[in-house]
Amino acid sequence: MSESAIIVHGGAGDIPDEHAAEHVAGCRLAAAAGWRILQAGGSAMDAMEAAIQILEDLPVFDAGRGSYLTTDGIVEMDAIVMDGATLQMGATAGVQHVRHPITLARRIMERAPHNMLISAGAESFARACGLELCAAEWFETPYTRAVWQEYGRLPLATGTVGCVARDATGTLVAGTSTGGTDHKLPGRVGDVPLVGSGAYADNRSAAASATGEGDKIMRVVLSKTACDLAASGMPAAAVAQAAIATLAERTGGTAGIIIIDRSGRTGFAHSTKRMSRAWIDADGVLQAGIEPAHGST
Ligand code: ASP
Repeated sequence: MSESAIIVHGGAGDIPDEHAAEHVAGCRLAAAAGWRILQAGGSAMDAMEAAIQILEDLPVFDAGRGSYLTTDGIVEMDAIVMDGATLQMGATAGVQHVRHPITLARRIMERAPHNMLISAGAESFARACGLELCAAEWFETPYTRAVWQEYGRLPLATGTVGCVARDATGTLVAGTSTGGTDHKLPGRVGDVPLVGSGAYADNRSAAASATGEGDKIMRVVLSKTACDLAASGMPAAAVAQAAIATLAERTGGTAGIIIIDRSGRTGFAHSTKRMSRAWIDADGVLQAGIEPAHGST
């Protein structure tokens, strides 16, 4: 048996004060739900999926319900899951009606003959798997409509969500789910569903989930970059900081990242003003925050 751990994030950015408490509360709820599954002997995959489903349903996050709208005024959501034991992955992009894109990504990994399905084809596959589909109105909130109508004038309060978990078998998994960027062009796909960018997991090194400027994150394959750094044995907290520094140095981009390494050490870092997160590791204590605290958990 080895140490279980879970860490979630609710997005990195300039999260306004009035949304900070709700962000942290949502992250706490999600991490606690995942932890209960791990404590009951459940898999890291089940824990991650349960945690992200909670975050997708909370409108304070830019994933599932609460996703930002495209310039056409609709949601287009992306998600990815990866299993570090097998290096199997599933990803989806541009889905408009799937209540839990993270579950669709998992079903693609488990049942599809491909690793990624997008838009209408992904939705047909979701239907065939019996996943819940919702009308467009379910995803939209008064806040996301206001952001769309007042383009550029409201602070961006909601965030992409992600989770990394390690179970008692030592399996690491990562998942990330997003509505993408506010006012993105229809058809835009960011870093999230791109393997190694929005998430990566390998039992030999680490698992990571990223959030932030996706069009820059993908250029340094941020999550895989972090896992590669962890392979050298560098502590998870230092890995997170080094990965974020690489992104800044090579692209000028800002982002946040959460990580668990092969020994079960958690870490996070962000170069944005804030990143909501919550985690539980070897000591079994739920911790959470949103202010900069680059470094060790
Ligand atoms: N990385 C996401 C994207 O570009 C956005 C975010 O994390 O806030 O789609």
